[in-house]
Amino acid sequence: MKGKTPRRLPPKKASNSQKDPVGVYCRVRPLGAEDEECCIEVISNTTIQLHAPDGLKANRNGEFKETQYSFKKVFGIKTTQGELFEDVAKPLVEDIIHCKNGLLFTYGVTGSGKTHTMTGSPGQGGLLPRSLDMIFNSIGPYQAKRYVFKPDDKNGMEVQNQVDALLDRQKRDIIKFADMISPEEACKADGVDEDSSYSVFVSYIEIYNNYIYDLLEETPIDPIKPKPPQSKILREDQNHNMYVAGCTEVEVKSTEEAFEVFWRGQKKRRIANTQLNRESSRSHSVFIIKLAQAPLDADGDNVLQDKNQVNVSQLCLVDLAGSERTSRTRAEGSRLREAGNINQSLMTLRTCIEVLRENQMCGTNKMVPYRDSKVTHLFKNYFDGEGKVRMVVCVNPKADDYEETLLVMRFAEMTQEVEVARPVDRPICGFAAGRRQRNQERGESPTVLNQLLQSFPPLPPCEISGPNDDVTLPRLIEALEKRHKIRQMMIEEYNKTANMLKSVLQEQDSNLLSKENFIQEQRGKLGEKDKMLQNQKNEIDRLEKKSKMLEYKIDILQKTTNIYEEDKRSLQHELESREQRLQREMSEKRRMEARMQGIVTDSKLKWEKECERRVNAKQLEMQNKLWVKDEKLKQLKAIVTEGKTENRQPQRPSREKDKVPAKRSASPSPVPVRLTDIFQPVFNATGPPVRPLHRRSHSAGGERWVDHKPNTNVDLDTVLQPNLPNAIKVNAPSEKALSKCDKYVLTHQEVASDGEIQTKLIKGEVFKTRGGGQAVQFTDIETLKQENPVAASRKRRSSETGPDGEPKEGDWTDVETRCSVAVEMRAGSNLGPGYQHHGYPKRRKP
Ligand code: ADP
Ligand code: MG
Repeated sequence: MKGKTPRRLPPKKASNSQKDPVGVYCRVRPLGAEDEECCIEVISNTTIQLHAPDGLKANRNGEFKETQYSFKKVFGIKTTQGELFEDVAKPLVEDIIHCKNGLLFTYGVTGSGKTHTMTGSPGQGGLLPRSLDMIFNSIGPYQAKRYVFKPDDKNGMEVQNQVDALLDRQKRDIIKFADMISPEEACKADGVDEDSSYSVFVSYIEIYNNYIYDLLEETPIDPIKPKPPQSKILREDQNHNMYVAGCTEVEVKSTEEAFEVFWRGQKKRRIANTQLNRESSRSHSVFIIKLAQAPLDADGDNVLQDKNQVNVSQLCLVDLAGSERTSRTRAEGSRLREAGNINQSLMTLRTCIEVLRENQMCGTNKMVPYRDSKVTHLFKNYFDGEGKVRMVVCVNPKADDYEETLLVMRFAEMTQEVEVARPVDRPICGFAAGRRQRNQERGESPTVLNQLLQSFPPLPPCEISGPNDDVTLPRLIEALEKRHKIRQMMIEEYNKTANMLKSVLQEQDSNLLSKENFIQEQRGKLGEKDKMLQNQKNEIDRLEKKSKMLEYKIDILQKTTNIYEEDKRSLQHELESREQRLQREMSEKRRMEARMQGIVTDSKLKWEKECERRVNAKQLEMQNKLWVKDEKLKQLKAIVTEGKTENRQPQRPSREKDKVPAKRSASPSPVPVRLTDIFQPVFNATGPPVRPLHRRSHSAGGERWVDHKPNTNVDLDTVLQPNLPNAIKVNAPSEKALSKCDKYVLTHQEVASDGEIQTKLIKGEVFKTRGGGQAVQFTDIETLKQENPVAASRKRRSSETGPDGEPKEGDWTDVETRCSVAVEMRAGSNLGPGYQHHGYPKRRKP
């Protein structure tokens, strides 16, 4: 990966012809001493054949076929580390020197020789020490002084000034030396830019359980209580290259020094694995060699102090974890989980390769899941055409590994089909000497063309002096031939230069193409983003619609609420008005009640008064009756004592002096009629004056009678019946009848004290009242009575000899005629059939 630099080369080539498949090599290690059966046979230098072991064949009933796998190159058991390096790693080292990146990883099951291939052992240095050696052999004389280049911690490089670099140099540790490769094996890259200055930086990381650990980090190791190492994270630099953030980058100036750093990391890895009880075969180790180069200044003495001119390329050497499945390691618990994760990252590598292959073969644009594991994420740029990718598939031919090896082979086969864009060569102007060389040769050598031009011979004089002139023509011919030769040379030189220019132009063309490609890619990305935007817009539209709908709903609800509130208000209003009405009605009722109460009290009082008045009237009436009786008694006495002929003067009875027990009438019911306020006893002779209206004449002829006979009366076949000519017969009092007559008679029947029915004829006069009605003043009562002769004599006897000296009935006849009671009846008043006739003295009919 390169730093920030305008000279950074485009990552991809446009056409397929400029793509390279991932270089997959196969290395078969020798069979171990204890293993006997071999399942791999190297058929040619590109093919191997797998044989299923005997046991497995038997199990599968001979169905199994022998399979062949082809690789870019197959390295048999006799292949040396040097040979392998020559074919596999050397081109990558050349690339890094020419500003191109490289990725080399070893893949295989545990014990297949991955570490042996990558690291090797003393005297059998692997690809890593050899790569380092070659780099230093190549750039050795052109290395920058230490600390001139300085990592900027953002995957880029800075150029330090001389003073700072010097200060940093003094802080450096002394480094030990270890040799792994014999001097005669040393190799060197060609075409190193002499006008640049170089520096090598190494990093060493380990990826375990999908965590990245920096193996070169300087942390004090506590052997008693070891602290678990801090993991690192991956970041993307401004050129979209992945790098391990905060990873230690050690500047090394020689192979020895680089080894030293590597071993330091190895040691740390070993210690950590032991302390944390890890299985080393389950971790991936990544050794990163970074080569920084920058052009020298015009003098060719110092590096140009311009960060933008710094070029960084890197070679990643990856020793992957064993590819075998988990079951084989018989791991348990957390170890099993870790193993799962490691297998997971290899699985992701396989998936990425598969997707890459599918995309390339089918022209699809599926997303490659680099991010699913740290290993693939870290190297994603390589697969995207950022550098050459090579894989050494290591296999152990032992039969035990057969099944796992089969899987390894399948993966290898698939990987080979993936093509990675070929990194572009940096244009190198080879026809001119480098600045360093120019400094040495300055002022000495003109260019070839100039030299040729200068050596161009002038034409000799071509005038022929005579026919025998043998000199001129041959001289001319010679000069012309010489000139022709020089011309030829110049043409050649021109052609060469033209070719060079052509290639440069082609290069630029391809640059342009790749730029176009890049633009195309960006366009694609833009399209994607556009699509995303469209989607988001759609989503926004949808949400807007939804929000509108919700707003509409809210509106409706608001309206409904308003309506309800209005309803509520009106109902409340109605309720209030009804309450008010109720209140009003209640108060009205109360007022009414009070009024009623008043009326009731009033009428009660009135009626009380009325009753009292009536009682009083009754009392008076009774008193009067009593008085009448007393008077009668007195008269009776007087008769008894003074003789019957004597005229009797009516006197006011003195109740106190001559009290006679009152004889009560046998009236069956109390008087139900309204009596007049005035209740006056009337005496025929000398009593209180009778009203002037009042006539009293029994004999007056031409009078008209109202003959009142209630229906209840019983016909007793009485002989003596009143003879009333022209009488109006009624059975109930009638005002109309009264108005036509001036006499009134009521035929009244009652049961006498002896059990006989007696009939009374109560007579009265009708007169007009001042109020326009009629009043009846009773004046006379005639009593008709039938008697059983036996009972009557007995009775008479007993009554004549009454012990109390009461007057006999027969003695009453005269008195009765002289006694009358005037009863004024008010017109329109209830005169029921049973109105009362009191026990006046009976008139015995002769
Ligand atoms: P891995 O890293 O794949 O687990 P190693 O590289 O540790 O395997 O190899 C296991 C053993 O096999 C080591 O002792 C190594 O020396 C030996 N070995 C592997 N490959 C070869 C080879 N090509 N030649 C000789 N010995 C080898
Ligand atoms: Mg190993």
